[in-house]
Amino acid sequence: MKALVKEKSEVGLKLQEVDKPKIKSDEVLIKVKATAICGTDLHIWNWDTWASKTIKPPMTVGHEFMGEVIEIGDNVKGLELGDRVSAESHIVGSISRNARAGKLHLDPDTVNLGVDRDGAFAEFVSIPFRNIVKLPDSVDDEMGAILDPFGNAIHATLSFDLVGEDVLITGAGPIGIMSAAIALHVGARKVLITDINDDRLSLAKTVSAVETLNPSKENIKDKMKSMGLKEGFDVGLEMSGSEIALDQMIDSMLMGGNVALLGLPSDTINLDLSKLIFKALNIKSIYGREMFETWYKGLALIDSGLDVKKVITHSFHYTEFEKAFQLLNEGKAGKVILNWC
Ligand SMILES: [Zn+2]
Repeated sequence: MKALVKEKSEVGLKLQEVDKPKIKSDEVLIKVKATAICGTDLHIWNWDTWASKTIKPPMTVGHEFMGEVIEIGDNVKGLELGDRVSAESHIVGSISRNARAGKLHLDPDTVNLGVDRDGAFAEFVSIPFRNIVKLPDSVDDEMGAILDPFGNAIHATLSFDLVGEDVLITGAGPIGIMSAAIALHVGARKVLITDINDDRLSLAKTVSAVETLNPSKENIKDKMKSMGLKEGFDVGLEMSGSEIALDQMIDSMLMGGNVALLGLPSDTINLDLSKLIFKALNIKSIYGREMFETWYKGLALIDSGLDVKKVITHSFHYTEFEKAFQLLNEGKAGKVILNWC
């Protein structure tokens, strides 16, 4: 089969012929139809410090996907040939304290698809049946391929009560943009998203009725005043990984406000801890999705009319993967789909 492979320790990926995966008794084989490129895949493409420490080439990469079940192991339950599915990309163990307590997303023995084991940028992928999520008809193939990052946005955004609350999102990447739409859909009063990239801010505007601000050009205090905020934002979602953005968020929060951190800084950052303590902020770090409550909520919100599909800006055949990665590296795209049919 064809697959996008990190062949050796260097920048880029190669389209190669590799063996079709063999399934274990608790796994299914999926014929991949659509995949999406994640920030993680960009790190792997660019072969940065994190990627070169984590990935063991040769490795088929990719973890955001949907497809069709075409082979079922002997011990698989609840799935049939032909099912349209996506899957949770974190494959958890069963013996750690958290796994045994049912907190699967906090299992330290987690294995990541397309990072620690061969992934989904391929014609076929194998995965344990417990990770599979069946797709309802209301979710089309492209949306099915981005349920994984949509889940990150759901997990972060629904971490706190948002009804009637004012929300600040720093970073208008795809997850920040989806988070804004989620916050407004579930009843936040005002939502402001910030980014220094104007194209990303206008993409955010096409996905939801979010307020936008470019902090390199506009003053956030003036913006807060014009939005009717008196004391600060109730909820902050940090999705940029930028030191400056995090600092601005802390300054703009209500005392005792709630902050979720999802953006990954590319290096160690300076943080004025005393400012954070004197604001008495609650900080929650977001990693992955809650299995499988996040998936349930995400599909339910789509069912209730939430539509974030405009965050998908480009769609390519997988043979055009180089063009897709280039667009993303230039910061000129939202979510980018690679089709495998
Ligand atoms: Zn991802």
